[in-house]
Amino acid sequence: MAEGPLVHHYVNQLKKVLQGRDVRIEFRLRKLKDIEPALQNIHIQKVEAHGKQFRIHLSNHRILLIHLMMWGSWRIYRKSESWDKPIQRARVVFHTDSHTAVVFSAPVVKLMTLSELQHDPKWGHLGPDPLRSDFSSRDFFQRLEKEPSREIGEALLDQRVIAGVGNILRIEILFRSNIHPRRRIDSLSKKEKQEMLRWILKLFETWMRQMGRRSHWIQIYRRSGKPCPKCGTPIEFFRQAGRITYACPKCQR
Ligand SMILES: [Zn+2]
Repeated sequence: MAEGPLVHHYVNQLKKVLQGRDVRIEFRLRKLKDIEPALQNIHIQKVEAHGKQFRIHLSNHRILLIHLMMWGSWRIYRKSESWDKPIQRARVVFHTDSHTAVVFSAPVVKLMTLSELQHDPKWGHLGPDPLRSDFSSRDFFQRLEKEPSREIGEALLDQRVIAGVGNILRIEILFRSNIHPRRRIDSLSKKEKQEMLRWILKLFETWMRQMGRRSHWIQIYRRSGKPCPKCGTPIEFFRQAGRITYACPKCQR
């Protein structure tokens, strides 16, 4: 599942082969096929991640926005290398003179201007991203406190509050912070919010650092009924914001 750290990891790889290069972009989606002729030889100015979004800045002042949701993935192949995934699942293919970067199964591929993206009701207005250098904890707290009656477990999934948190991260962040996901935002003390921020930064960084290895930092996600690693109480699960949520009923208050 592509939460912020995985998106940033992919972007670090993509930068090496795409950023500052001239590419040929091939769309394997019918809706974007018409604009393909204009992208036969285009310069990629910047590849960046913001939360779970890939933003590929092109020299024609357009941004290619890609979101993997639950199913998408990237592969980078050397020119002569054969693909390990079926071409039917490819959505966009970037050809450089040495490599081919392919995004597979991504449900969201859009071409827009920066201003269109920033004002887009669905994809714009993103909250701060803990893995970006422009992350602001003040901005995060302000956005969080805008809707004080919301449950914290739901708010953390809202990309306009904080960008990049997905189901695994929000469950583990709240567990480490000893905060129950059902708590209302206005019931959290300043100290609890600071503790939560500390774990947000720490777990984003840990996932990034341990990318591709066994995720020992995951303690309660998908462990319903198993003993809590802190107190031994069975981990409970319930639905929140349409997602399966895990919590320790004793440690998380
Ligand atoms: Zn516990």
